[in-house]
Amino acid sequence: AKSLGGGTWRFFAADMRPRASQTAHLETELRGALSRQEFVLFYQPQVDLRSQKIVGAEALLRWQHPQRGLLAPGSFLGLAEETGLILPINEWVLNEACRQGAAWEAIGLGDLRIAVNMSPIQFRRQGVEGLVKDALRASGMRPTSLELELTEGILLGHDEQIVKQMHVLRSLGVTLSVDDFGTGYSSLSYLRSFPLHRLKIDRSFVQDLGSDPSALAIVRTIIDLGHILNLQVLAEGVETEAQLSLLRLEGCDEVQGYHFSGPLPPDAFVAWVARHGR
Ligand code: C2E
Ligand code: CA
Ligand code: CA
Ligand code: CA
Repeated sequence: AKSLGGGTWRFFAADMRPRASQTAHLETELRGALSRQEFVLFYQPQVDLRSQKIVGAEALLRWQHPQRGLLAPGSFLGLAEETGLILPINEWVLNEACRQGAAWEAIGLGDLRIAVNMSPIQFRRQGVEGLVKDALRASGMRPTSLELELTEGILLGHDEQIVKQMHVLRSLGVTLSVDDFGTGYSSLSYLRSFPLHRLKIDRSFVQDLGSDPSALAIVRTIIDLGHILNLQVLAEGVETEAQLSLLRLEGCDEVQGYHFSGPLPPDAFVAWVARHGR
């Protein structure tokens, strides 16, 4: 680039150009990442609060970037959503999680539930049940071991097509949970009209449990609401013993968080399960 006079050049060079071309560069890299198989899944244990035994794992996406190292989804999911690349990426996630789940069944880690995060874009597109059926068939994973985590955004709007897909998934034996519950929209009516199994209390409420009385009130309300509607309730982002005992007191069913373990690569996850016992 040529300088058009100090200030102007600086403005473009330091601000706009690099940002725009950085994004373009990231998009190109993101397109290549799938074919170069640079994505990996980490697994975070989900623990039954009463028995303290592991009952499942949430699959969390990571990008093993050749130069920048291991990237968390926060640094590339936004762009993936914007460009539509989230569709092939999440299809890979679904297939990989099922493949891993089936492999773990084969080595006797049998009744673990594997939870996969669904993108709103992906779920609105027709035929999610087709993707799920294909992933289950190709892997041989038990459908009852697969859980899909949906956001409140997916459930809002009472889209007929989405309700239909959810019932098909349910009839297969796949379970459905609501992720980040309490942070989305205030409409609760969808809870009655969708075939759900579990609410995941957002970690922002769990974080403030010991310090903020209103957080405790919200957590208590979500647990009671869930149980009245026959749903299991899982609290995410549990980091301390104090949070854990409050959740136990409130009758929460399951927990997930750094107090037990962060997300782990597959080998470390298996080692954790072996160490922790089931
Ligand atoms: P999420 O579904 O709410 O996932 C939980 C996030 O909280 C994860 O961040 C996890 O590492 C982190 N976490 C777990 N326990 C604790 C804790 O005790 N304390 C704190 N501070 N954090 C905890 P991660 O892996 O960076 O994922 C961020 C978000 O990216 C996820 O939020 C999810 O919305 C999205 N995501 C991850 N994997 C996928 C995927 O395969 N597909 C799609 N569509 N989205 C994904
Ligand atoms: Ca999730
Ligand atoms: Ca969550
Ligand atoms: Ca979240």
